[in-house]
Amino acid sequence: MRENYRKLRVAVLGGGTVGAQVARRLLDNADELGSRSGAGLELIGVAVRDVSARRSVSLPKKLLTDDPHSLIVGADIVVELMGGLEPARTLILEALSSGADVITANKALLAEHGPELFDAAAKVGAQLYYEAAVAAAIPIIRPLRDSLAGDHVTKIMGIVNGTTNYILDEMDTLGLGFEEALAAATELGYAEADPTADIEGYDAAQKASILSSLAFHTAVPLSDVHREGITGVSAAQIEAAKRSGHVIKLLAICERRIDASTGTEGVSTRVHPTLIPRSHPFAAARGANNAVYVEAEAAGPLMFYGAGAGGPETASAVLGDIVSAARRHVVGGPGVGESTHADLPVVDPGLVPTRYQISLTVTDQPGVLATIASIFSEAGVSVETLSQSTPHDEAGAAQTATLVIQTHQASEADLSQTVEKLASSPVVHQVAGVVRVEG
Ligand code: NAP
Repeated sequence: MRENYRKLRVAVLGGGTVGAQVARRLLDNADELGSRSGAGLELIGVAVRDVSARRSVSLPKKLLTDDPHSLIVGADIVVELMGGLEPARTLILEALSSGADVITANKALLAEHGPELFDAAAKVGAQLYYEAAVAAAIPIIRPLRDSLAGDHVTKIMGIVNGTTNYILDEMDTLGLGFEEALAAATELGYAEADPTADIEGYDAAQKASILSSLAFHTAVPLSDVHREGITGVSAAQIEAAKRSGHVIKLLAICERRIDASTGTEGVSTRVHPTLIPRSHPFAAARGANNAVYVEAEAAGPLMFYGAGAGGPETASAVLGDIVSAARRHVVGGPGVGESTHADLPVVDPGLVPTRYQISLTVTDQPGVLATIASIFSEAGVSVETLSQSTPHDEAGAAQTATLVIQTHQASEADLSQTVEKLASSPVVHQVAGVVRVEG
């Protein structure tokens, strides 16, 4: 490293799973990172809650502090890896107002307070980097922000939550029920003690909000993301998906859509369990891995795949941001603000046409298929495929059969009307599941 390199002071807020890995690598690889940055990187401290706690990654005691505010003073680059909304939000605002560049992996904070933080950065010409906030190690923010800045992104689909992907994968490969698969994920550390944020789709919705805002140059708050989790996905639905050559994944889908009610272009951002063909590249995303598919007008389809969590994996993305921030400091000039120039309206999720797969248990007698078909056609929902499994006896009841029906594209309103009519039909014993279909 050149002797006359400027030294940049780096403060890391949070010394947990990710923060400790970032700090360790900053210490171990200081020279190499400095050479890549064009500036020396000096780790000035790591803020934690409890400085005396035992840590799996050892850090010099003198670097640990429980006073993040004083660490920020005089830092050129502040790396927020504490998580949660507060005090992370206040600390980031403090850092930006002092002119420091900020790096965060905090998707919850960005989805909730992104515009406020980006405005604060723009006001002082600082830069807010967040590569690790979506899909951890997978480079997806920089490709969307920089590499595809000259293109027109039309759609992003992602498996962006490793916990739910692990649970659905276990249900698919081992035939486990949801509760059993969740218990396995918890035991292996893939699910938190309180798994709500993952299994109810909140975590995926936060990432979808970030991706949609960035790709479509439009502020897409969390409240504009349609969200369904995986708690309602049953072993029977997974089995029905298998029989029809599909697999169920929790997908975050961000796309430009024409709003049927206004005829104008808008943004649709949604998270829900989705049936995809087993031949789809996403079907190969196994265990806790993440995958993101991007479609852009000129570039065509692009796939990104890799680790969506983990200390070293997430640290990789954070360190990339630190090097970018350092290079910016060396060159000088204001940071590049977040662009919301397109300001597209939100498309009502009920108006987004989607294909559906519906599983039914019906009485096995002549005329049933005609009854079912007429319910679909009366609601204006067109059937693409229908398969019937071998009839079986329910204990003491009439013989029944299982029907799996896939529709052409239909609106949610028409589909809901169909499902209501099916549920009240005397030939239908049970509507066992309704899942959207992609691909
Ligand atoms: P973590 O293991 O819980 O670590 C949090 C760290 O912040 C701990 O060191 C904690 O101190 C410190 N901290 C929390 N509140 C504090 C406060 N008020 N004052 C001072 N220190 C405080 O979290 P993590 O898994 O590293 O995640 C960090 C961020 O990265 C989160 O935003 C998360 O969403 C994001 N992220 C994580 C992953 C992953 O795989 N873990 C992947 C992608 C993104 P103590 O150590 O003393 O408790």
